[in-house]
Amino acid sequence: MQLLLASRNRDKLKELTAMLQDLQLDALSLADMPKLPGVVEDGATIRDNAVKKAVQMARMAKKLTLADDTGLEVDVLKGEPGVRSARFASDDATYHENNKKLLKMLDGVAYEKRTARFRCVVAIADENGLYECVEGICNGTILEAERGGGGFGYDPLFLADGQTKTFAELSPEVKNRISHRAKAMQKAWAVLSRYLREKSGGKGDSPVPPRRERA
Ligand code: IMP
Repeated sequence: MQLLLASRNRDKLKELTAMLQDLQLDALSLADMPKLPGVVEDGATIRDNAVKKAVQMARMAKKLTLADDTGLEVDVLKGEPGVRSARFASDDATYHENNKKLLKMLDGVAYEKRTARFRCVVAIADENGLYECVEGICNGTILEAERGGGGFGYDPLFLADGQTKTFAELSPEVKNRISHRAKAMQKAWAVLSRYLREKSGGKGDSPVPPRRERA
């Protein structure tokens, strides 16, 4: 069976594909379906946007579809940028412009008050509508300057709890083991297993191998 990853964000697709590499599903991205129109991400919450993307893309593509929507929630900013994370500085902002705006808004805020979290919602849908939605959270702190050249988005500013390196300094293997997306995808993995079992009438082995150990 094919699984459509409903994202045009190459950085995100790279992470999702790495996390799905052992899955016995044939992963496709929107680049494989160029004629599909985009989905307007105008939901009030991260969950709304994930569900909207998964449901609309699944209906249009007639395929099992997985959509991820992610936001960075900064406590002292009352959860901002949140659902507006991609468009924080402006509608077509670069990652760096968003980071610059965030640093400006946190100027003078003490280290212990710079707590934040990445929230990742993964929605799974098919032609019949939403199947299930799962969430992964990673707590951390927003630093006072960017550090590291890896990752993407807000990664250079984000120090996950218990780490000494930002997400942009950690190797992709480590980020993909501890991140919000990794946590959501571990749950999504179980949901996909159940979906495939149901589709095969509950017969035989799970078409999805057990999750790899994620230390
Ligand atoms: P969306 O889920 O594509 O709407 O992502 C919103 C924005 O959140 C992106 O443009 C990135 O700036 C940021 N973002 C999403 N995932 C990550 C991540 O894993 N690390 C850092 N920033 C992220």
